[in-house]
Amino acid sequence: MTSAITFSKLESEVRSYSRAFPTILETARGTELWDSQGRRYLDFLAGAGSLNYGHNNPIIKQALLDYIMSDAITHSLDLQTVAKERFLRVFNELLLEPRGLDYVLQFTGPTGTNSVEAAFKIARKVTGRTTIVNFTNGFHGVSMGALALTCNSYHRAGAGIPLMGSFTVPYDGYFGPHVDTMDYFEKMIEDPSSGLDHPAAVVVETVQGEGGLNAASMEWLQRLRAITEKHGIVLIIDDIQSGCGRTGTFFSFEPADIKPDIVTLSKSISGFGLPFALVLIKRDLDKWKPGEHNGTFRGNNHAFVTAATALETYWSNDDFAASVRAKGEHLGKRLQEMVDRFDSHIVEVRGRGMMRGIRLVDPDRAANVSKRAFEMGLIIERSGPHDEVIKCLMPLTIPDAHLDEGLDILSNALAAEFAEGAA
Ligand SMILES: *Cc1c(COP(=O)(O)O)cnc(C)c1O
Repeated sequence: MTSAITFSKLESEVRSYSRAFPTILETARGTELWDSQGRRYLDFLAGAGSLNYGHNNPIIKQALLDYIMSDAITHSLDLQTVAKERFLRVFNELLLEPRGLDYVLQFTGPTGTNSVEAAFKIARKVTGRTTIVNFTNGFHGVSMGALALTCNSYHRAGAGIPLMGSFTVPYDGYFGPHVDTMDYFEKMIEDPSSGLDHPAAVVVETVQGEGGLNAASMEWLQRLRAITEKHGIVLIIDDIQSGCGRTGTFFSFEPADIKPDIVTLSKSISGFGLPFALVLIKRDLDKWKPGEHNGTFRGNNHAFVTAATALETYWSNDDFAASVRAKGEHLGKRLQEMVDRFDSHIVEVRGRGMMRGIRLVDPDRAANVSKRAFEMGLIIERSGPHDEVIKCLMPLTIPDAHLDEGLDILSNALAAEFAEGAA
């Protein structure tokens, strides 16, 4: 008999998601999860966007099982393997070439924050400069270098040493719709007496995952690209959460028609929830010396197999992306209905594609809504500076019936919290 006591007794206080969803999970398929008591949940958290193709996706799972059963390589440092060769080739053929992107791929240690560290290091190395510009509410991971560019004070406070090398600029919409924060950034860059040392790089999320689903406009991103290009500043897009199709195109920056200098990917890049992270580096910036940034687990061959299979299955034509865009629109419509119905409690719909949510007036009530949803069988998390944004990150492969079932639960949880009808 499994018991929750085991966790409170033996696991560190650092555990977090498990506090909000205190059950013991056992099995999962697609969007559905079952706990050890056989209770079913719909998963609108999906590994914080690490399970874009659902839990135990049968096509991807079969490819992994076949690979393991053939005694193919599991661990290989950064040695050449058949699995890695296939992944590199498929990634290039299905993603880079059709989009006219010329990047080399760096395999870092298997976490998002590790790819961010590598991106910052190479940007500083090639420019010989130190400062990296980030944006308010940005999240880039919690290892020291990445944490210095992560804005959340709770996470920053955990550093224990001064966090340096960042300069924070207001994100798009930070002062509302009438202030273009790129005016501010441009002025700071062009005024030699602004106090901003000429930066090595700018790092940006096109939709801020942890920061509360703020979505930058395409015009704002285009201006950011133009300014960074003009001033020789490396543009890093952190697509760890917003990439891999989440917003309706593989890379979240595609609708802006811009080419970043560096892109970080992790979370859903393995396609199966396996640890895997990547840095895409514009060829002429690839000034690494052999092994200068390294890591024992740069060769997660199982993830190469699942990632390549996911790309071949879902990204060899536009059908899947089109379905994500259609579901994203439906999601937006249904969330807007909730805003209209509870307009004194909900401020607005946030986000883009299938990376959307609702911002509540009162963070405490957002916590209650998530709790009520969980009791009704839906796992859904919050983000934003006060955790006031309820965030939908369901698998992109979610069937329409599950999408509506989950949104019905969310709507019922809102109704219960705002005591419209039952309490
Ligand atoms: C999750 C995330 C990271 C960090 O990834 P980890 O695997 O948790 O280290 C970095 N940037 C963004 C945008 C993320 O969402």
